[in-house]
This record gives sequence, structure tokens and C-alpha cells, in this order.
Amino acid sequence: MKRLLILGATGSIGTQALDVVARAPEAFELVGLSAERSHAELVAQARTHGVERIALSDPDAAARAAEAWTEGQVLSGPDGLVRLVAETGADLVLNAIVGSAGLGPTIVALTEGIDVALANKESLVVGGELVMALSEATGAQLIPVDSEHSALHQLIESERPGTVERLTLTASGGPFRGRSRAELADVGVEEALRHPTWAMGGKITIDSATLMNKGLEVIEAHWLFGTPYDRIDVVVHPQSIVHALVALCDGATLAHLGHPDMRVPIAYALHHPERVDVPVRALDLAEVGSLSFEPPDLDAFPCLRLAREAAVAGGTATCVLNAANEVAVHAFLSGRLDFMGIPAVIEAALERLPAARVHSFDTLYDADAEARRTAAESIEVRA
Ligand code: NAD
Ligand code: MG
Repeated sequence: MKRLLILGATGSIGTQALDVVARAPEAFELVGLSAERSHAELVAQARTHGVERIALSDPDAAARAAEAWTEGQVLSGPDGLVRLVAETGADLVLNAIVGSAGLGPTIVALTEGIDVALANKESLVVGGELVMALSEATGAQLIPVDSEHSALHQLIESERPGTVERLTLTASGGPFRGRSRAELADVGVEEALRHPTWAMGGKITIDSATLMNKGLEVIEAHWLFGTPYDRIDVVVHPQSIVHALVALCDGATLAHLGHPDMRVPIAYALHHPERVDVPVRALDLAEVGSLSFEPPDLDAFPCLRLAREAAVAGGTATCVLNAANEVAVHAFLSGRLDFMGIPAVIEAALERLPAARVHSFDTLYDADAEARRTAAESIEVRA
């Protein structure tokens, strides 16, 4: 039995993870749940799943939860989240928080030697070098939940070191695939939230529409698998059936296929190294008919180019990229920024805040805060 903690339990990944856990009561003891502010939903989850400790990052929400729920312990604020991770005696933490807010809990878990099933790709985008060093130092494992990286983890696991030459991540292309830069000038929030193949949280859905999500995933793959950036390719594949490919030294290329359903990579990460039944539709390629592939359009979707440039610049650049993106996406979702303003705000932040060396996690927290201020200023100027 694994003692499991789910962070970001009320989100898209969090709720699907609870479904995976409920199907395998013999495999997990759910020891804690967290959310940012959705207290009623978190308390309901705690009751349903018999959990005794929850944490809400928003102190007011935590106070409301403590009034409504007296059967267990409610931890409050960012410190409460840290305590939940450090003091609950978990064997595995699923980090399904969105954004750079997920970095702190990843660090705490790894520091305590606790394995992390990582959905929060931002942890690696912001602090990849230090996060991987920490995992190495404490022996705590990082198991990816992101579908492409889960696919790569499965493909690479059985290969000897030195045999993998290139990695390919597939991208659905999002709702705006095929549109030109000019045609993207006045797209609205609702259209951007209509993802063709995956149902996900708001932030990652917008990241998929700008292709920033794939940029973040290139950086995530670099750190997880130690692959140089010039050996990580992106190909647009609108059906989202092939999740990733690895090219080996002998000319063989291996692919990972399946209908898009996040419960597959979630179950893989939570049960690893075991495999369990997941009730998903079997893949029938004759029924799918055809799979198509095309190169990404970097002119219409500059975020992918910006992510690669920041990745190569290294240091604080990917932290700045991520923070500016979070602020810009939030502004777009609340109607304060146009769609093409997202890459413009990120590019301006990267220009104004040149890459610096990362000495410690504090360097990253400072760079994150500065990038948020810079991005907020550009958004005001644009409006
Ligand atoms: P979501 O917005 O649906 O849920 C986010 C969860 O995190 C919620 O429980 C929320 O309460 C919590 N949260 C938000 N801000 C927080 C903060 N500041 N502090 C603490 N908790 C906070 O997001 P999601 O779509 O489930 O995505 C979660 C992560 O998984 C993201 O990093 C995303 O990129 C990654 N991911 C998601 C999918 C998907 O299918 N949804 C696929 C691949 C990767
Ligand atoms: Mg993905």
C-alpha cells in the first residue's frame, strides 16, 4: 500500500487521479489532499475518500473548511501546504498544482526523499536543474504524468543508456491549428478554451492554443531525460493518438499510442512500477483511419520559438518565460489582453530580464517575482 498525497486535488488532473485511486483501494492509502481555495469541493473529496488531512493555500478558504469539517485536520496557507507534504509521512506525492506555485511542494517532497508523480511541468520549467539535482541527491524519483513524457518514460525505460538519439513530442496543434498570425489577432477566450482533443484546466488549455504548452514540454523533457535541446523535436499531430516517439541509434523509432485519456499516464505514474487495468477505449487503428503529422507554424505560434530560445539561454530565462506566460494567460482569460499579446508580453519580459545564473531556489523566486511585475507592466501599456 502506498501512502499517497494529492496536491491540486480539485483540478482536472486531481479529480481524474481520485478516480484512478478509487479503482484500486488495495493499492493506496490516501493520506492528504490540497487545493488553492475551493474548500467545499475539497471537504467533499475528503469525506468521500476518507482522508484525514487537507490543506488550502488560501487562508480564508482554510478557515471556512475548518468550520464545515471537524472530522480531520485543515492546514492553512503556503506553510500549511509545506507541512502537508513534509509531515504526513507520504510515500508518493502527486503534484497536480498549476503554475510555478507547484515548485515549492516539489522541492519539499524531494528534500524529504518522497517520490513525486509530476503533473506540474512548471516545476521543471522553472527549476529543472536544481530539481533534478535534488532528486539525484535524495534518491527520490520523479515520475512524469504529462502524457508525452509518460510515453517517453515508458519507451526509454527498457533502453540501454546511449542508445536513444532523438525524442519527438507530438502536439495536437490546439483549436487554432492552420490559422495564420493575422487570423489569430482577434480570437476570443471561448474559442481558445475549446481544445479539440483534451479536456483540461484553463491555463494549460490556453497554453495548448498558443503552443506554449509544447515549449514548456520541450524543457520538461530536457530535464527529465537529460536530452540536449537540439535532439528534442516537436511535430503537430491533430488526432493525439501518438503521444511521443524515440529514435534509437540503430534506425528504429518507437512510438507510444492510445486514445487521449489522462487516466492512462496518471495510473502509470501512481502505480509505477506496476501496471493495472484502466477502463479506456481500446485503440482500433482501422477505426481511426489515418494519422497525420505536420511541422509547427512558428510564425503564427511564436510561444514555441520563445520557449526554445529561453531554454537555450538557460539560467533564469525559463523561469522568466514561465512567469510572464502565467501572467499573460491570466490577463487573456480575464479579457485584459489579446491573444497575440501573450507572446508579445513574454518576449518583452525575456528582453528586459536577461538570463542570469541560478545559485539557489531564492534566485528563482526573485526572477519569478520580477518577471511577473514586468509582464504586468507590459499588459497595462498594451491596454
Ligand atoms: P486545474 O486548473 O484544473 O487544477 C489546478 C489545481 O491546483 C486545483 O486543485 C487548484 O486548487 C490548485 N491550485 C491552483 N493554484 C494554486 C496555488 N497557487 N497554490 C496551490 N494550489 C493551487 O489544472 P490542471 O489542468 O489539472 O493542471 C495541473 C497541472 O498538470 C498543470 O501543471 C498542467 O500543466 C499539468 N497537466 C495537466 C493536464 C490535463 O489534462 N489537465 C495534462 C498534462 C499536464
Ligand atoms: Mg502534455
